Amino acid sequence: MSKLPKLPSIRDLIRIYNLKAKQQLSQNFIMDKNITDKIISLAGLELENALCVEVGPGPGLLTRSILDSGARNVVAVEKDARFIPTLEQLQEASDGRFSVLLGDMLTIDHSLITRSGLEQKSNADGSIKSFDHVHLVGNLPFGVATPMLIQWLKLLSLKSGIFGTSNVSMSLMFQKEVGDRITAGASDSARGRLSVISQSVCDAFKIYNVPASGFVPRPKVDATVVQLRPLEKPLLKSSLGTLEHVVRFSFMKRRKMLARIFKDWDPERIALLEECEIDPTLRPQDVTTEKFCQLAHIIEQRGIKLP
Ligand code: SAM
Repeated sequence: MSKLPKLPSIRDLIRIYNLKAKQQLSQNFIMDKNITDKIISLAGLELENALCVEVGPGPGLLTRSILDSGARNVVAVEKDARFIPTLEQLQEASDGRFSVLLGDMLTIDHSLITRSGLEQKSNADGSIKSFDHVHLVGNLPFGVATPMLIQWLKLLSLKSGIFGTSNVSMSLMFQKEVGDRITAGASDSARGRLSVISQSVCDAFKIYNVPASGFVPRPKVDATVVQLRPLEKPLLKSSLGTLEHVVRFSFMKRRKMLARIFKDWDPERIALLEECEIDPTLRPQDVTTEKFCQLAHIIEQRGIKLP
């Protein structure tokens, strides 16, 4: 298994390149390699014919752990140009296993990421034309972590972009409260729209908690790494966009019973709940993902416009 050669410490790189964390890019760095190694070992990356995409590598400690695990094709997307010199050093030390793209993960053309992975040294003989596994990994910028996840779930539901293969995993660090929401089952007090949207296409579970003290600068809250893996049989039957509308509408008044929420919209719409065999006395957080997917399916099929 290839390991990286000895490199300057991340602390030294931050000092040498004067890489002060920018709050507007949600920069909270991990400086302890035990933490990043643990994240990668728990992520359980496939190494054979796999593309590992890292979002926001920053100074690159998590990237080092990915490479030390033996990953052969790693592509990172970083928005802050200040990190490119340190990441290019890592690229040079990686024996052709790592490349970095300067860009915004929310707008980047995913074909650039795949192409970059395929161009890496291990593929120079042209033996690999596509990847069997894709791993998306990142200590996400907290400020845009939710829109990023929703975009990836949409792409996953369409098998588009880097999610074109069926063997996908996402191991992503969120603020703990967001991780709780993503993984909350029906009737859990943390249940919300993100729980339903995520669980309509993925199994979602927490794999590792990192306290606020694990980051520099220290954020106000703890963090958690969530792993998402596509469901063999997705519950989603509509577009993810329609499901998103349905859950946004339903959770707007999360303390009210569904009967009240639907009556306030249009008394006749209560029939939709009956049709899906959803108990109208339930509150939104008590409804299963499957039932929300059924509701979204009917709403989309009939072209019903939600308020
Ligand atoms: N991976 C590093 C670590 O664990 O120490 C840094 C994590 S820091 C929480 C988030 C990183 O994402 C920063 O490097 C930041 O510049 C980058 N970033 C912020 N917005 C981004 C975006 N839209 N696309 C790509 N990277 C982004």
